[in-house]
Amino acid sequence: MQLASLVECLQGMELTDAPDERLLTLSGKPYTSRSAYAALDQVTGTPDAHGRHIWTTRVPNKVKIFAWLYFKDRLSIRTNLFAKHILDDESCQRCSNATEDRLHVFFGCPTSAELWESTALLSDTEVWSANVPSHLDTNLWPFVLLTILWRIWDARNGETFRNEPSTSRRILSKVCDDLVIWRKRLKLDSDVINSRDWHIYLLSCNSTKSSI
Ligand SMILES: [Zn+2]
Repeated sequence: MQLASLVECLQGMELTDAPDERLLTLSGKPYTSRSAYAALDQVTGTPDAHGRHIWTTRVPNKVKIFAWLYFKDRLSIRTNLFAKHILDDESCQRCSNATEDRLHVFFGCPTSAELWESTALLSDTEVWSANVPSHLDTNLWPFVLLTILWRIWDARNGETFRNEPSTSRRILSKVCDDLVIWRKRLKLDSDVINSRDWHIYLLSCNSTKSSI
């Protein structure tokens, strides 16, 4: 069957001495990741909003890849490992109260829930549309959001695998540190300045927290 398809494709082909060229069937353009995504967007008619936010955000690549897996729900969360028969129990090891799916890790587990409550940035799990305070730059929200999600995931792994207790205060503190270190990755001077306001805001959220 596959051989017949191959033979059919090869019919009419003539080999020349010219170098090979890899072209996208969908667009006829040379293959790159960017052009492949653009071609797919045209086919589906629904641009990949997650990808657009993730790949243009100035966080380190490891955080972008983590975010891509987050939005595809491909992180090694217990429900995903349970579905692959790697684990026989999908309950959260941190609070033992619930199934550890993606929403639980990032929003429902008590530490994560408290972090979001203290920042007052999200009213639900539609993460791209945040309740950004009026004095902060909304354009930097993806940069801040991915940093927060990354640190929640890092804390979950630290507690699960390295027996490192985490608190929402500690997670937010690390987010603040990251914003300072990653600030130099921002291209525009205005973004650098506005990131300082975000940093101050998150520090203030941490200082007004009442528990943990
Ligand atoms: Zn939990």
